[in-house]
Amino acid sequence: MSELYQQLRQRFGERVKVNEPLAPYTSFRIGGPADLMLVVESEQELCDALKTASHYGVPTFCLGAGTNLLISDRGVRGLVVKLGKSFDRIEIEGTNVKAGGAVIFRRLVETTIEAGLSGLEFAEGIPGTVGGGLLMNAGAFGGELSAAVAAVHGVTMRGEKLKLERRELRFDYRAATLPEQMVITWVEFALSRGEKALMRARVEELRAKRAARQPTDMPNAGSVFKNPPGNFAAKLLEACGLKDKRIGGAAFSQRHANFIVNLGSATAADVKKLIETAQAIVEEKTGIKLEPEVKLVGEW
Ligand SMILES: Cc1cc2nc3c(=O)[nH]c(=O)nc-3n(C[C@H](O)[C@H](O)[C@H](O)COP(=O)(O)OP(=O)(O)OC[C@H]3O[C@@H](n4cnc5c(N)ncnc54)[C@H](O)[C@@H]3O)c2cc1C
Repeated sequence: MSELYQQLRQRFGERVKVNEPLAPYTSFRIGGPADLMLVVESEQELCDALKTASHYGVPTFCLGAGTNLLISDRGVRGLVVKLGKSFDRIEIEGTNVKAGGAVIFRRLVETTIEAGLSGLEFAEGIPGTVGGGLLMNAGAFGGELSAAVAAVHGVTMRGEKLKLERRELRFDYRAATLPEQMVITWVEFALSRGEKALMRARVEELRAKRAARQPTDMPNAGSVFKNPPGNFAAKLLEACGLKDKRIGGAAFSQRHANFIVNLGSATAADVKKLIETAQAIVEEKTGIKLEPEVKLVGEW
């Protein structure tokens, strides 16, 4: 690790952070430190960082906006990379839109509607980045990112640039399978022409639905569990009496049974225990094993 640090330090100077606390980078506001952390500002920087880490056999984790993560209290061993401002760019050519991996959905939705392009309205209110959204096949209100994706650009963990066409990607419910692990730098979307007023009305409608249903006043990471086939996780959790259930500083939200909120002092261990307790109770009462949508990351 210290050799990797020396190498990265030579290339990136003081931008390489040691023992960087990760809680502030997550919507849960939970998580221990990353051994090393680097925000990259170009594809070349990303290639160099990943190549160097792979040379020393050090694992790399890519952090997006941290809105679907439960990072362990011990933190993440190895290198954490994050895409910087230069990946927060949107290019539009006709009905094709190329968005950087660090673009936040709200901006992408606003920009595409302003350009009269339809296909991403469903993503209004998903607080993550384009890179994280692609990896999660983010979706809401009947829409999924996969429906609009034309191609993905990225850098493999060996530090090689790669472009993948739609046919090379496999999308499932809240998951994408790429031919190999990579950091997504750009996503190309194929959209269609739409009526601005109609799209704006749809976005307003979705905003209101979220505001009514979701806890907006306490740190959380969105839906904790995936909906099992033909059912809803929130419905099962509520039916099993888990709404409001609390462990330590973490509790299921009163507003939305499938959201766990950080009451202020939650540890990752509290949240993990609450997840496991809920899984066990729901399985015992209904026979259904809930699968976490939130990704557990780091050293447990
Ligand atoms: C209030 C709230 C509401 C939410 N509503 C929804 C919703 O309606 N629908 C929905 O699908 N999700 C929802 N989410 C969850 C979350 O916003 C999405 O899963 C989002 O796509 C995660 O993006 P992110 O950038 O935050 O990724 P992160 O949480 O940082 O990471 C998630 C995964 O993506 C990987 N990743 C991130 N960036 C990259 C990259 N550039 N290249 C490769 N891998 C990468 C990470 O390694 C990790 O495995 C919600 C979350 C919150 C807090």
